[in-house]
Amino acid sequence: MIKNVEPNNFIEDIIVDDIKKLKLKKIITRFPPEPNGYLHIGHPKAITINFNTAKKFGGYTNLRMDDTNPEKESFEYVESIKEDIKWLGFNWKHLKYASDYYGKLYKIAIKLIKKGLAYVCDLSAAEISEYRGNFTTPGKNSPYRNRSIKENLKLFKEMKAGKYPDGSKTLRAKIDMASPNINMRDPIMYRICRAKHFRKGDKWCIYPIYDFAHPISDALEGITHSLCSMEFEDHRPLYDWFVTNAGFVGKHKPRQVEFARLNVEGALLSKRYINKMVNNGWVDGYDDPRLLTIKGMRRRGYPAKAIVDFVTRVGVAKADSVVEYSYLEACVREELNKTATRVMAVVDPIKVLITNYPIGRTELVAIDNNPNDKKLGNHSCTFTREIFIDRDDFNENPPAKYFRLTPNGYVRLKGAYIIKCDKVVKDKKGNIVCLECSYVENSKSGNDTSGLKVKGTIHWVSESEAVKIDIHNLKPVIKQDAEFNGDNLEEVFDKESRTVYKKAVAEPFILQIPNGTPMQFLRNGYYIRDSKFDYETPTFINTVGLKDSFNK
Ligand code: ATP
Ligand code: MG
Repeated sequence: MIKNVEPNNFIEDIIVDDIKKLKLKKIITRFPPEPNGYLHIGHPKAITINFNTAKKFGGYTNLRMDDTNPEKESFEYVESIKEDIKWLGFNWKHLKYASDYYGKLYKIAIKLIKKGLAYVCDLSAAEISEYRGNFTTPGKNSPYRNRSIKENLKLFKEMKAGKYPDGSKTLRAKIDMASPNINMRDPIMYRICRAKHFRKGDKWCIYPIYDFAHPISDALEGITHSLCSMEFEDHRPLYDWFVTNAGFVGKHKPRQVEFARLNVEGALLSKRYINKMVNNGWVDGYDDPRLLTIKGMRRRGYPAKAIVDFVTRVGVAKADSVVEYSYLEACVREELNKTATRVMAVVDPIKVLITNYPIGRTELVAIDNNPNDKKLGNHSCTFTREIFIDRDDFNENPPAKYFRLTPNGYVRLKGAYIIKCDKVVKDKKGNIVCLECSYVENSKSGNDTSGLKVKGTIHWVSESEAVKIDIHNLKPVIKQDAEFNGDNLEEVFDKESRTVYKKAVAEPFILQIPNGTPMQFLRNGYYIRDSKFDYETPTFINTVGLKDSFNK
């Protein structure tokens, strides 16, 4: 049954209207990727709109692979797209392929020929585009436009039977070469192409063009609303022309509704650019964590929920917009704050010797896995006489309001004791080698009777159990301040967008966190272990920092 809903955007307004006008019984949408590449941050917008709109009305969504260009498509992409959609948390009702409909599409083409609405044309691709005219000049008719129905039927059947070489003939819709909409100037419906289709093999040597295959596949599948991005707006009259002339009318006629594409500032989403970066080895694959592919974001540690939240918050509109990258990061940070496990890692270690803590003594202290959610429990780490703290957390000449460690100052070690810095030990060059400190015995966290008021708490790692880690710091692939104009990728690509940092140490608990799980390095940022680069030293990449640079 269809659900009664309060419409929240223009798409839902249209659907509510159509339900009344056409007495629709179910709302069915589809997500129609072409399996010729990997999904990126733009796709979740189309996915979310199609799936959530149908769901809201109690309907469902099909996943349809729009596989009409055999030269570029493969099973590998099909599998990758399926995996990404599932990971994002969406479930399709039926998995379909445009190629499921090749037989029916062929029959509908024959029907259109018989109605005098399609003809076989012998113009070359170059001639077709020349005859088509442009925005200011109307097109002119093809000399083959007035072939008889009988001749067209014969030629089209021969095209299918393989009688003609690739590119030598096309089947075209007979619409209007003077139409102000160039898409309506006798668009191509079929081309001859002897490429092996990944599902159909060599069965076909003619392939339907997207503009014909897509609307008819929608209609055959019973799609009620074909929700797609704005660039298809000018194709809508053609969409309507094909479904109507193929005989799908009233409630059997699917309706195309367009929404704005999602663009993210500084993100290179086009397959052309991503392929170039991958093929040149500038990035390490389609799942490089610097890329805004779904696989890249997943490897970077972006939670699926943050990605869906992001596209949902950007909202459904008709006007194209470019969204700041920092807004996506804000969504990631918000989700990770709720879910990420806290661990202690010291990025730039200085040694601290706690002179009054007995040699050989160890103590377990508890660190909350997530202070926002006590249900997530805690883990323990070992406190000892020799520890590391971050260089940043000590300052010999502290500015005002510096609450971390200073000479003769006090600070709390997370989960453990308050310490005081008694002596700064330096080498001949003046570099700090070690801080000699003393701990306050009755100041242990949770059981502090010292009466000391200490403003700062810093993280630390025991020397004896410290695990060496590598950190790969990632930045956007386009250099800051560089202007990418579409052609200068080589020039603007930042070869320093991945830098390797080797000094950090962490508590051993870090190794128990399952792969693919983002974590927070306390007081620093969110990180995830990178399985691909994890050779000898455990390797972590920065998911997102703690500070929000997005201006709400
Ligand atoms: P690209 O050209 O960016 O590589 P595409 O449009 O060729 O992507 P398809 O597989 O054809 O990729 O897209 C499947 C669906 O996803 C289309 O219906 C399209 O409307 C939608 N889509 C693709 N990119 C975006 C985007 N940036 N914002 C919103 N929807 C998008
Ligand atoms: Mg496309």
